[in-house]
Amino acid sequence: MRRWNGWGDDSFHLELPDNGEAFLRERLGSAQSLEEATLEAVCNRVPQSLLPAHELVHRDAETRVRHARGQSLDDWLAMRSGEFGHFPDGVALPETSEQVAQLLQWACEVDADVIPYGGGTSVAGHINPRASQRPVLTLSLERMNRLLDLDTESQIATFGAGTPGPLVEAQLLAQGYTLGHFPQSFELSTLGGWVASRSSGQQSLRYGRIEQLFAGGHLETLEGPWEIPTFPASAAGPDVREMILGSEGRLGIITEVKVRVTPVPDRESFHVLFFPDWEAARTCARELVQNRTFLSMLRLSNAIETETQLALAGHPTLIGMLERYLSVRGAGDGKCMMTIGVTGTRDQCRTGLRELRRISRRHGGVYTGTHLGKKWEAKRFTMPYLREALWQHGYVVDTLETATDWDNVDALMGRIEGTLRNGLEAEGEQVHVFTHLSHVYSQGCSIYTTYVFRCADSYEETHRRWARLKAATSETIVRNRGTISHQHGVGRDHAPYLPIEKGPMTMAALNALSQRFDPQQRLAPGVLLSERGADNE
Ligand SMILES: Cc1cc2nc3c(=O)[nH]c(=O)nc-3n(C[C@H](O)[C@H](O)[C@H](O)COP(=O)(O)OP(=O)(O)OC[C@H]3O[C@@H](n4cnc5c(N)ncnc54)[C@H](O)[C@@H]3O)c2cc1C
Repeated sequence: MRRWNGWGDDSFHLELPDNGEAFLRERLGSAQSLEEATLEAVCNRVPQSLLPAHELVHRDAETRVRHARGQSLDDWLAMRSGEFGHFPDGVALPETSEQVAQLLQWACEVDADVIPYGGGTSVAGHINPRASQRPVLTLSLERMNRLLDLDTESQIATFGAGTPGPLVEAQLLAQGYTLGHFPQSFELSTLGGWVASRSSGQQSLRYGRIEQLFAGGHLETLEGPWEIPTFPASAAGPDVREMILGSEGRLGIITEVKVRVTPVPDRESFHVLFFPDWEAARTCARELVQNRTFLSMLRLSNAIETETQLALAGHPTLIGMLERYLSVRGAGDGKCMMTIGVTGTRDQCRTGLRELRRISRRHGGVYTGTHLGKKWEAKRFTMPYLREALWQHGYVVDTLETATDWDNVDALMGRIEGTLRNGLEAEGEQVHVFTHLSHVYSQGCSIYTTYVFRCADSYEETHRRWARLKAATSETIVRNRGTISHQHGVGRDHAPYLPIEKGPMTMAALNALSQRFDPQQRLAPGVLLSERGADNE
């Protein structure tokens, strides 16, 4: 069953290897986890629902608890402490677009706010009810999870918007197709959520981001149904799909999503290389993408992430042997690990690998084959379970992400890491910080930073530590040519920073658009366009 207060399936556990714990203890000091609330205790604290009865709406405490929070560290601490703040007053589970339309109409009649809910994997406070005079209806698409149509001639598949990653791929695979969208949250996140928050999958280098995959679909809005037609390309003014992408539930409920699919590729494999230092590794990554080398994925860890990954991998004897070999080949202290994927026909994969080895050799890259790549592949969707293991040892972990042009990558990464590393200095606490580049483009790349620190003595203080780090780094990002989000979206947590990135004219236009579709501001209130978001910078 899905964990009510953390990530994933509660029957699956990842252990922190012994040397992994020693590694963190050495850097952060020993730590202790905090006492956790039980589901029963939290359910007992859920107030009476302010919504009247409706046949599609569940008002029981447990369903409301299970849909009250996402997966950010803020959410994690709320769930573990039992201090949820607010709960939805009811959770609707419609099965058709018509039922979604009825529920929107009903929400207007009973004067409720509506939170569209996909897989609830938001890490930016998208789906949390806020304090409101109105009752809150969370509208979950989880029952709209089927492949409705597959047009093999145009290679367009139509899905219910609540279809989660594994069901998208399983239903397509049965007919020989793939979407190829694999965010790390694949197990739980949904097509509608990917579109609404502009998601990026691990193999975006081959398949594109969700922007490239989203062909059209159907929305239910407070103004009525909205059909987005599919065109291979169009010069008929601004693209309506761009209004839906990243709309984060503010304009309407996406009920059907049409996506561009491709036949399942013949071959796929993942390979790992090491570089002597960051400069060599980053230059090689840029050259590979600018050269249009036939790769489906490129992930480059900086030196601290490389060291951390090798320490947390377990198997210290094998890793020791690998490190000795790498050192002899010139990749010793400061080495950086690159994981790449090749996907396609045999010839395409061969060509991609040949180019990779040619270019990487020029930068001192040491190719180590597919062994570590297979390990990465096996764990690509289970790494989020490590958060639970870290928590049990008293450490909390969060991630931050942005994107910037190549000329600014090192400067921005340095500032982000510096802000985090020194962020708890005043109280004598260390923060372990490391980064990888996970989505590379000719123009630039995403920067994905992970930071780990110790739980304080209380939930309140642990939360204060997180809030300080998050605020300082968000400010650093938008003041230094980074976007406030490359893939996680804006939600409520990033909304205060959006006006800095977009500027007053764009913010006014976005607010006007939201007013046009939702004059009473009942859809996902406070998300994307916060009350402060309307301000001018
Ligand atoms: C461990 C972990 C790893 C992650 N890895 C990645 C990653 O690799 N790449 C990435 O892009 N993101 C990643 N994320 C972030 C998150 O998974 C994405 O933002 C994802 O797109 C959210 O999808 P969801 O279905 O869970 O949406 P939700 O979290 O339920 O909702 C997100 C937003 O979309 C709106 N929404 C959802 N469904 C609809 C709909 N049908 N109609 C209208 N609005 C809707 C909601 O109102 C909300 O504003 C990760 C998150 C976690 C916890």
